[in-house]
Amino acid sequence: MTFEKQCLIETGDIIAVRYECVKCHAAIVVPIEKLNGEQLATYSVSTCVYCREPSKFEMGTNEIIVFANFIDSLKQIREVMKGRGRKLQLQIKCEHAEE
Ligand SMILES: [Zn+2]
Repeated sequence: MTFEKQCLIETGDIIAVRYECVKCHAAIVVPIEKLNGEQLATYSVSTCVYCREPSKFEMGTNEIIVFANFIDSLKQIREVMKGRGRKLQLQIKCEHAEE
């Protein structure tokens, strides 16, 4: 018998967003209730306060709007899915879960 391991995140399981610098790994963690797409997008365009790595995001671009909308949607979908007859799950790679 074989089992295929699946790593799933349910929308209700999301408690915070972690936003990490790819160079020095400094991160901010924002609880889901406090998420604000526009605020995080504004923060996102600045260089890392620890190592000065640029974010390579620019204000007013389509990419930063996509970023802000995704953050806002994450917050909203959690509430929207409460009490429904279906679960919305995101499947993620399992490799890092066992480390
Ligand atoms: Zn950094």
